[in-house]
Amino acid sequence: MAADTFKQRILKENTLGMTPADQRSSIEIINPEIKRGCIKHVLFDFDGTISLIREGWQQVMIPMLVRRLLELKTGETEQQLHAIVEDFVAETTGKQTIYQMIGLADMIRDRGGNPEDPLVYKKEYLDLLWDRIKDRIEALKTGKVQPEQMVVRGSYRLLDLLKARGVRMYVASGTDEPFVKNESALVKVNHYFDGIYGAQDDYKKHSKKIVIERLLRENQVPGESLLTFGDGYVEIENTKEVGGIAVGLATNEQAGEGIDEWKRERLIKAGADIIIPEFSCAETLIDYLFGDIDRVD
Ligand SMILES: [Mg+2]
Repeated sequence: MAADTFKQRILKENTLGMTPADQRSSIEIINPEIKRGCIKHVLFDFDGTISLIREGWQQVMIPMLVRRLLELKTGETEQQLHAIVEDFVAETTGKQTIYQMIGLADMIRDRGGNPEDPLVYKKEYLDLLWDRIKDRIEALKTGKVQPEQMVVRGSYRLLDLLKARGVRMYVASGTDEPFVKNESALVKVNHYFDGIYGAQDDYKKHSKKIVIERLLRENQVPGESLLTFGDGYVEIENTKEVGGIAVGLATNEQAGEGIDEWKRERLIKAGADIIIPEFSCAETLIDYLFGDIDRVD
């Protein structure tokens, strides 16, 4: 029998001794030991954390990668390849797209194939993704859809509360920077941020890790003054590496509310200190993180 995928393993472990979702409050404190009350800088991931414009990108990337691997006719079934690719995409969520395409080239090479330049794959992926999101962008531009409908619930409230606390806020995304800037303007959040950083053509110059290190260095502040919100492994892990506070968004995007168990487990494994489903708990969460209250229930 084939080994469990990463996702299946997580779901299996989740049934052992974890509190059922319906018994958890909307703010779940994973690490009560964090040093609260010294936040000066707040970093946001963009896609899936604030913006829902690119929702469903995994359903574009996974089939594309599977298709490319199937072409090699290695004898692996579509199902087997799907499991491999699904794990790979989950483990690289939050990284720049080009790294995911470099990963595809590696997988092709490992199977005896002759990969194209990862930039070719990136372009193919972006074209496919564009087909999925172009109507959303158009609807936002023409006003057919309101910006509130394309952001994670409670985003504006949270951003307002943070602004009122006088912190500096930033976006760091693995999506190409021009897209992030354009889409943050479309959902009307760009004015909250002191910096919006996305992937560059010269991809080695950008990473969430580089953004975090630079903002701590330039502001001469310790890691504990950093608070990060993200729905991906990468930003959570990078934040914990410097001693910051990491809040993981385990949004159930299909239901639009509640916790996605699979995301929750993945974010906890990456080191998330707190898990939330979306930002409807913003007041309590901010009061807690800034040390005004000591309990969230
Ligand atoms: Mg994200």
